[in-house]
Amino acid sequence: MDKRVCIIGAGPSGLAQLRAFQQAEEKGIRIPKVICYEKQSNWGGLWNYNWRTGTDEAGNPIHGSMYRQLWSNGPKEGLEFADYTFKEHFGGSIPSYPPREVLFDYIKGRLEKTNFREKIRFNTIVRDVKYESQSTKFIITVRDETLDCEMVEEFDNVVVASGHFSTPNIPYYEGFESFNGRILHAHDFREAREFRDKNILILGTSYSAEDIGSQCWKYGCKSVTVAHRTAPMGYDWPANWQEVPALVKVKGSEAFFKDGSSKLVDSIILCTGYKHHFPFLPDDLRLKTANRLATAGLYKGVVWNKNPKLFYLGMQDQWYTFNMFDAQAWYVRDIILGKISLPSSEIMHDDVLKREIAEDALEDDYACVVYQGAYTKELMDDTDYPSFDVDAANEAFFRWKKAKKKNIMTFRDQGEFISPIDGTVSAAHPKAWKDELDDSMENYLNKKI
Ligand SMILES: Cc1cc2nc3c(=O)[nH]c(=O)nc-3n(C[C@H](O)[C@H](O)[C@H](O)COP(=O)(O)OP(=O)(O)OC[C@H]3O[C@@H](n4cnc5c(N)ncnc54)[C@H](O)[C@@H]3O)c2cc1C
Repeated sequence: MDKRVCIIGAGPSGLAQLRAFQQAEEKGIRIPKVICYEKQSNWGGLWNYNWRTGTDEAGNPIHGSMYRQLWSNGPKEGLEFADYTFKEHFGGSIPSYPPREVLFDYIKGRLEKTNFREKIRFNTIVRDVKYESQSTKFIITVRDETLDCEMVEEFDNVVVASGHFSTPNIPYYEGFESFNGRILHAHDFREAREFRDKNILILGTSYSAEDIGSQCWKYGCKSVTVAHRTAPMGYDWPANWQEVPALVKVKGSEAFFKDGSSKLVDSIILCTGYKHHFPFLPDDLRLKTANRLATAGLYKGVVWNKNPKLFYLGMQDQWYTFNMFDAQAWYVRDIILGKISLPSSEIMHDDVLKREIAEDALEDDYACVVYQGAYTKELMDDTDYPSFDVDAANEAFFRWKKAKKKNIMTFRDQGEFISPIDGTVSAAHPKAWKDELDDSMENYLNKKI
């Protein structure tokens, strides 16, 4: 194999791609030369916590959107790698909603045991990608921030795994420029203690809105007001929490809502989503999609229809995460290795349309989980990625959703989830999430049963 493959990003998706090649090599298959460019100094993507906001040491935008006190927002049984279980990594059963540091450790664990870290060029940002139709090669310009120099390399395939929860979508409301407090996007939220004793206003109804509000509540904010544009989240919130219709404007410290009500607030946190943003790609290679399950323009959710030598991983809205990225990475690997052949561009185009139509017909979140589980299985079935019980993983998501509905502040206290990979049953964390103020891995694992 004289091919050269470029992977952009060493987050969970990029690492899945490296793992897929590593597994093939372990089976004696000759693999292409793989180089992964990662703009940060370590792997793990969003899970590699960054205290910085704004720009990094080299002046590039900070990728990280994670905050210190984040605990998994879904049960780990829904995201477990089929080829590397939690039990294998931690040497026993651990609870189902691990803090960020614990998941970071798990994500990097399976590659740490190999020499594939050597394939990653850290502190190296991809600046530009071009496709030359004459040579049928991609020309990639990167900047090595350690050496402070630019380099140009040629590749046969490119896998974009740069994530899509990093470039904030920031709306404007009348009066923002004269608001008497801090306005920040979720991307820049790091530490819930900053909002202790504060009245906070959150815009949006996403995971971020729900979880950042919950973190601030846990760490002692005075009140949480969440403004929604379409519908409230509708959980049974604590007493100092209210959901209100859309924000209309702010004046001084007062926020005014669509129903005529108003509230004095200290800070405004914009949980208003993220943009798919690929400043290094030209128009003909750049994915333009909404944050949805059936991404536009990608055959099987990964192959760029307009140039099937280019692939994207993890660009969907996500119920399934790590094991779906794996299924995608194994599938892409097998296309690159020539084990899976691609159909005509008409068929690839139809595939996207069919997925969009099927997604548009989904009636609720439960159906979305099933849809993405089926998609993961579809890809998995075409490769040697170890098959796992997708129905059991769906079941874990259903239990999680019901527990949230019952009590949004205690759902992470639930145990007895069953691993869809090896059947391990999880214990509950001995301390309730709301009372556990030590998120360290050491504390979490020491308390495992
Ligand atoms: C606040 C928050 C909480 C979340 N919580 C959960 C959770 O509890 N459970 C869950 O399963 N998922 C969660 N997610 C979803 C998250 O998207 C996935 O878990 C996962 O991190 C996606 O992996 P990725 O590799 O696709 O992208 P990322 O993790 O974003 O990694 C992309 C990598 O690409 C690098 N990169 C970007 N641009 C360039 C460039 N030009 N050159 C070189 N490198 C580049 C970045 O530095 C980064 O390392 C959460 C997301 C957010 C934002």
